[in-house]
Amino acid sequence: MSEFENSNAKSSSGAIFFNRSFTMHPNTAESDASKAGLLPNNPSSLNRAASISKLHNSIDSVKGKVKRLCSLFESAKSSSTSNEHSPKAVLKPSKSIAFSSGFNHPLIRLPGTEDRIVVYFTSLRGIRRTYEDCYAVRLIFRGFRVWVDERDISMDSAYKKELQSVLRKNNPSLPQVFIKGKYFGGADVIKSMFEVGELAKILDDFPRKKHPGLVCDCCGDARFVPCGNCSGSRKVFDEDEGLLKRCLECNENGLIRCPNCCS
Ligand SMILES: [Zn+2]
Ligand SMILES: [Zn+2]
Repeated sequence: MSEFENSNAKSSSGAIFFNRSFTMHPNTAESDASKAGLLPNNPSSLNRAASISKLHNSIDSVKGKVKRLCSLFESAKSSSTSNEHSPKAVLKPSKSIAFSSGFNHPLIRLPGTEDRIVVYFTSLRGIRRTYEDCYAVRLIFRGFRVWVDERDISMDSAYKKELQSVLRKNNPSLPQVFIKGKYFGGADVIKSMFEVGELAKILDDFPRKKHPGLVCDCCGDARFVPCGNCSGSRKVFDEDEGLLKRCLECNENGLIRCPNCCS
């Protein structure tokens, strides 16, 4: 009897221990759970991808799925009657097909940035969706504790021109992400890469910051500081010619990149 009780006690204590080990790591389990949560979704996303490849033949069968995707990704008005909407909606899932075959766009490159991650974004809150997307993408990278060359186009129009010429678009959406000089895309792409674990793999090579939580005490993470040469006035006095000249060290806002966090 005592043996039986012992074994009983053992098994029950084991069960308790098991349960405890489960409740021990709610935080780390969260990411695992989200990964695990992705697993049952994977077949369906594959199905989705497969059905989209058939889409060219039968748009009707996918309409429902596309609608679901729309409601997932954004609160897009699903007036699927207009011709403009259906190709747009089709673009969303076709992106997820692109993920499986590599996220980057081999033809679009940002020269001179092969050693870094570059994020073009805006810190202006003009368009809420854009601001939120920019914020989300910067936050994702911050979570990986990697240094990012953050290029705020609202602080320096040269960045905007740079992005326009690289993407060959007059009005590119924001944010836009380049990793090791290769173009990856905007918020949707980065979020998806993050969710499927692809981003973690790509960022594996990059060194991690020791104190990721610290805000730059030089610029407060604005990545720009007033130009020291002209004190932000954009004008310097040329003693030889006896007149004011445009300061050549700062941008149109009298700012220079923060020497503390952007060098
Ligand atoms: Zn200046
Ligand atoms: Zn700084």
